[in-house]
Amino acid sequence: MLLTVLGCSGSAPGPRSPSSGYLLEADGFALGVELGNGTLAELQAVRDPFTLDGLVFSHLHPDHCADFSALTVLRRWHPAPPVDPYVNRLPVHAPKEAPTRFAAAYAPDRAELEDELLTDVYDFHPLAPGVREIGPFSVTVAQVSHPCEAYGFRFTHSGVSLAYTGDTGVCDTLDGLVAGVDVLLGEASWTHRDNHPSGVHMSGLELGELATRAGAKRLLITHVAPWTDPEVVLAEARTTYTGPVELVVKGAEYPIAPR
Ligand SMILES: [Zn+2]
Ligand SMILES: [Zn+2]
Repeated sequence: MLLTVLGCSGSAPGPRSPSSGYLLEADGFALGVELGNGTLAELQAVRDPFTLDGLVFSHLHPDHCADFSALTVLRRWHPAPPVDPYVNRLPVHAPKEAPTRFAAAYAPDRAELEDELLTDVYDFHPLAPGVREIGPFSVTVAQVSHPCEAYGFRFTHSGVSLAYTGDTGVCDTLDGLVAGVDVLLGEASWTHRDNHPSGVHMSGLELGELATRAGAKRLLITHVAPWTDPEVVLAEARTTYTGPVELVVKGAEYPIAPR
């Protein structure tokens, strides 16, 4: 598997990165994971968006899916698409409200929609806890703890696993999802304070604890908010996790192979 970071700024785009967006590739299959503000530009710098084979969304906060509308414009209005988007509808795995939410974001006037719920160029698959096959990936989906319907994912390919927390506070299902994972791509949106609300985000300290409980072989920290000092988040994680850990940056590539 190859993980490419299209954007990693938490909660909103920041001065050095778009919001959340990742590309996961294996066996020639390209899976987009999130498409937050600014990530469609970065995706185009890496590959033609028409060559995406699937998309997954952890939840429907704008910093994870705002550029879906831009992708829809591209799919509908590109004058010479390399593949016919109406024939090769893009599979989209997302929370069940995605078709209505994305349609409303794309066009407030229904007359502009052509197809009421964008199913002319997309093939929506509602998320639910369990395991599903997406191309060459076996994807475990677990509901996590965030103010809206939200999921974390564990992608397995050729015996190697990458878990992505999405946005979440500490919770039991998250622990189950990431146990024994090779690489943990985890959110740490803020520095640690006892008075943060529970069930929203993790601190660097909490993410490090999660990685240690999981026995994760490597920790990649993402979703640090623009108003949060990333070096403090990293230092917190290092107090609770002794394995290899780093802050991801826009454009970084991580080959994920057996160690
Ligand atoms: Zn977020
Ligand atoms: Zn969120």
